[in-house]
Amino acid sequence: MISIRGLKKTYGRTEALAGIDLEVEAGELFAYLGPNGAGKTTTIRILTGLTRLSAGTAGLNGHDIEKQALAAKRQCGLVPQHINLDSELTVAENLDIHGRIFGMPKALRRERIGQLLGYVELSDRRDSLVKQLSGGLKRRLMIARALLHSPRILFLDEPTVGLDPGIRRRIWALVKRIQADGTTIFLTTHYIEEAEFLADRVAFIDRGRIVAVDSPAALMERMGAWAIDQVGDQGMETFYFTSRQEARDRAAGQQTEFTLRRVNLEDAFLALTGKRVK
Ligand code: ATP
Repeated sequence: MISIRGLKKTYGRTEALAGIDLEVEAGELFAYLGPNGAGKTTTIRILTGLTRLSAGTAGLNGHDIEKQALAAKRQCGLVPQHINLDSELTVAENLDIHGRIFGMPKALRRERIGQLLGYVELSDRRDSLVKQLSGGLKRRLMIARALLHSPRILFLDEPTVGLDPGIRRRIWALVKRIQADGTTIFLTTHYIEEAEFLADRVAFIDRGRIVAVDSPAALMERMGAWAIDQVGDQGMETFYFTSRQEARDRAAGQQTEFTLRRVNLEDAFLALTGKRVK
């Protein structure tokens, strides 16, 4: 559904993307995980037609993003990182404008707006001004807007940044439902637990390069299953083990304080890039 070959992007002397190769299957929920400045937003902006690539090719559902730009654009819906709703208009008016931009006839717009507001549980706020909505509700409205023209692929750029944990989980449930209903999802995040919880596969991206692509479970297995964090002479050190017993044996007789825990995706990211995601 998404096919990327040798994708590069330079801004002056900054190499934002240094050659990306990636295939995302239809129906997959794919997470793009990396620290600030890794190149996540740049990738999404290129794929959704908001900025030009410098080299390479990319296709969405078989449509080349450069040669068949309009057809490619119709394949995707985008929820950008920053809220870009029209705050002086109502919820329904924001959706209606989007439908007009995509050339949807009036009857279809009305039908889809009703459906989508129900889907994201915003029907009762239909006539509220957007400036009266909380951050979580605005996020849901942006998701409804991105889905209005029935795209095959939904791009979510840091969908839960700045939201509190309860609201973040509601967004996660909504994202899972959208996938279950057949939409391919490409999501960027720097929240480890978001990628771990949501994604079928994760790409680790660092300084414009993909350093690993696999399922969260397979990426974590590369490290083992259990970890011990210990404060040593070199600062915090982490040791990895395949079994809990092995970890316990290592911990027994240690003088310094330690924490025994499950391996997480951050361990794998750290091992591959030498840096933490946050
Ligand atoms: P964040 O989580 O901070 O959004 P990101 O992984 O999405 O990070 P990008 O926004 O894609 O990273 O940025 C990748 C690199 O390209 C960074 O070094 C950034 O400073 C640079 N960059 C991005 N957009 C521009 C631009 N319009 N002009 C110049 N440099 C840019």
